Amino acid sequence: MLESFFEPASIAVVGASRTPGKVGHDVVKNLVEEGFEGEVFPVNPKADEVLGLECYGAVTDIEDEVELAVIVIPAQFVPGVLDECAQKGIGAVIIISAGFKESGEEGAELERKLAKKCAEHGIRCIGPNCLGVMSPHLKMNASFGPAMPQPGHIAFFSQSGALGTAVLDVAVGEAIGMSRFISYGNKADVDETDLIEALGEDERTGVILGYVESVDDGQRFMDVARRVTHVKPVIMLKSGRTSAGARAASSHTGSLAGSDSAYEAAFAQCGVIRAETVGEFFDYARAFAGQKPPIGNRIAVVTNAGGPGIIATDAAGSSGLQMAELSEETMRTLNESLPPQASVQNPVDVLGDAKADRYQAALDAIAEDENVDMLLALLTPQTSTEVVETARAIGRIADKTEKPVLATFMGRASVSGGWKVLQQKSVPDFHYPDSAVMALGAMCRYGDWLQSELHEPPTYDFDDSAIEETIEEAGRGGRDTLGERQARGIARACGIALPRSEFAADEDAAAEAANDIGYPLVLKLSSDDILHKSDAGGVKLDLESEEEVRRAFREIMESARQYDPDAAVEGVLVQENAPAGREVIIGLNRDPQFGPVIMFGLGGIYVEVLKDVVFRVAPLTEREAWKMIEEIRAARILKGFRGQPRADLEALADCLLRVSQLGVYYPQISECDLNPLFVYPEGKGVMAVDVRFGLDSSS
Ligand code: ADP
Ligand code: MG
Repeated sequence: MLESFFEPASIAVVGASRTPGKVGHDVVKNLVEEGFEGEVFPVNPKADEVLGLECYGAVTDIEDEVELAVIVIPAQFVPGVLDECAQKGIGAVIIISAGFKESGEEGAELERKLAKKCAEHGIRCIGPNCLGVMSPHLKMNASFGPAMPQPGHIAFFSQSGALGTAVLDVAVGEAIGMSRFISYGNKADVDETDLIEALGEDERTGVILGYVESVDDGQRFMDVARRVTHVKPVIMLKSGRTSAGARAASSHTGSLAGSDSAYEAAFAQCGVIRAETVGEFFDYARAFAGQKPPIGNRIAVVTNAGGPGIIATDAAGSSGLQMAELSEETMRTLNESLPPQASVQNPVDVLGDAKADRYQAALDAIAEDENVDMLLALLTPQTSTEVVETARAIGRIADKTEKPVLATFMGRASVSGGWKVLQQKSVPDFHYPDSAVMALGAMCRYGDWLQSELHEPPTYDFDDSAIEETIEEAGRGGRDTLGERQARGIARACGIALPRSEFAADEDAAAEAANDIGYPLVLKLSSDDILHKSDAGGVKLDLESEEEVRRAFREIMESARQYDPDAAVEGVLVQENAPAGREVIIGLNRDPQFGPVIMFGLGGIYVEVLKDVVFRVAPLTEREAWKMIEEIRAARILKGFRGQPRADLEALADCLLRVSQLGVYYPQISECDLNPLFVYPEGKGVMAVDVRFGLDSSS
């Protein structure tokens, strides 16, 4: 699909320059000096030759076919050159030139013009404002980046050119092999989703790495990534974790959803491995490039020192891994081959004086053990340690077993001899045991993902005409939140259980409704201007008689007046007292990139103070709904704890799925809070005692 960028037969460099140090010179030089095997045509009307190559006045003057054009001329001339490229039949251009969107409104206008021209001519474009593209296998360095990594199977794309150069430098310095390097800059045309799709199909690429600052079309990104990650790992570093982009929100969900929570959720839902730091990014890259993911989460550690073994054990716990219980047989073998002081329990301690043969024997036995899914060999340099020989032994094990084998040779000066050997054997090596374990944790999550099937979200029968009418009615009123009655109407139409409620505009009506519903009951302030009723003294629970109801009505009216004298108060909601249940919150919010996002957490302090909430991009599958329930830190409170029965998690998952469907089917609903939803013991269902919806009148 984007082959012309990765494997072109011929490249024109528009803006080729004879002056060393200029970008237009460096691009030609990089192509020539790296030994690009295809044709290179410098284009510059003011030069006859550049670096010994014949120079052309325009791409249209080139007689041979040109597959790719690299453009390095001042921004204002770029649109004109695109016309010439089209005339010449060039279907792919890399625009290195800066001076577009990144430089202000004028540049942004120029960029829109450029994008339009590309679309008109059917030209695919990488950039503008980028470093260029490299394909080390072809010796193609179509960039002004200083050095090209050796061929390998990691593809790396970066929105930031500077980060791109830094990554290249690491790759060259650590001899990490790459299949493609793409700096895609302002992404006027080709974006991260296009690249993931193309690299997913690229046979040279085994691991995809990406640095992004934003994802443009969230749903399309997820669709593509979900497919590609089932074939090869996609590791992303996404910057901009703060919630600066989050808009002022009138719901709990809105205020808890930072701009990053949707990314976090989306990446996890489509199998993208997210690196939290640049360090992790490289760690994961090396781990995934070297070894296959494990099929389970049980790790075995072999070490020549106790401390690092314990550090690895701790890290395993926090990375979702389990220390493997070695089989009787393995322990017998270890007992036979190791000195009596050695520990044959995982982490296996081969002792400080261990030479390569002890590592070999221990790893051999452990690799065979069915209780072990992955191996980590730890080495600290001690007097009799055989660094290089041990590295070779680890390499032999890695060759033999299907299980991933990682190494940590701690130190610098005396262990560096081992690094090279490990690298040749594709055994990823880490400076620290905890980073090795973290990487194994990520591989394990990916292994899980590979084994998971693609599920479809379920569909529910909603009373759609009721929902549509309510939305229309509210839209006519020009409001951006739905009134109590409308909100409850929508929840009911979605099949969400609600306590019986009646609206009452005055005290007498409240008394009448109360007698109708029966005691005990609840009175709640009804006002579109007051969002948090309790804050305004607007919720009275456990009212036992008409007298109490009348008093509660007057008190609510009085405290609402004091709370906000300007608030329009419609009256009260007389509501059945719901039996006590475990309080949770379910929310719906809209993310500018990914669309509907569902939030879940326990109510009360868990959400207010601890912010113990999880997010997913809708539509949810059943599996994702269950995962949400599992993932909150307080999950045990729902699963049954200290004599409390297990809550009706089926009904809870069902409710999450209904809100998800509402979010997907009705883009006009901008926000929703079920806060709280009472969850009853198993078989007893759920009940939404407070529902709120926001409307987006523009959609
Ligand atoms: P708000 O969130 O606007 O302050 P709610 O309707 O959520 O108002 O009520 C506040 C609290 O009162 C809820 O969190 C819940 O604990 C309790 N509550 C509300 N409605 C009922 C009800 N019908 N039955 C029992 N408790 C209720
Ligand atoms: Mg509430």
